[in-house]
Amino acid sequence: MYPFTLKPLPYGYDALEPHIDAKTMEIHHGKHLQTYVDNLNKALENKPEYQDWPLPRLLFNLDKLPQDIQTPVRNHGGGVYNHNLFFEIMAENGRPLGDGPLKAAIEKVWGSLEAFLAEFKAAGLSVFGSGWAWLVSDNQGNLSIYKTPNQDTQIPANLTPVINLDVWEHAYYLLRQNRRPEYIDNFFNVINWEKAEEYYAKYPETDFSKV
Ligand code: MN
Repeated sequence: MYPFTLKPLPYGYDALEPHIDAKTMEIHHGKHLQTYVDNLNKALENKPEYQDWPLPRLLFNLDKLPQDIQTPVRNHGGGVYNHNLFFEIMAENGRPLGDGPLKAAIEKVWGSLEAFLAEFKAAGLSVFGSGWAWLVSDNQGNLSIYKTPNQDTQIPANLTPVINLDVWEHAYYLLRQNRRPEYIDNFFNVINWEKAEEYYAKYPETDFSKV
């Protein structure tokens, strides 16, 4: 809650090399995310009645906020939430998907991890302009692929996030220029599936209307 601070990366800026380069990570985390944090704080600066609200509550109740902060909280609050998930869902060399409930749930929908990744890549490529591709779960544990524009989140849909992928050009342009497919293929090499399994395990208790 307010004042929001820059969450440190769980690894060094160069940890995801050569898949995602250190310079991109440094700017993405130290500049882009810092700016979202600063602008979210600015939006709430003169709204003490919302300063004890956790971020997911602000994002679930966007339409109940004072009109003048709805857009800033949606864009900058969404930016903070999305990036904190995204940076946590990666690790040096990635972590493999173990045999367990997440793997079973993926195979139930897509047949195999490879088939899921192919569809997830297609979803990431089909986001027009800037936005996010997601693997999400409903409160029964059923997985689906989801997309959001800009810095919108999965919170208003009350879905549990399992994986999210930033497909804004700032996430890959330095190293990959316009080659979003290459960026997505390289993201697959650094997915922390152990963390994804942790996130997925929260689906039974997820209810953003109660946060
Ligand atoms: Mn970003």
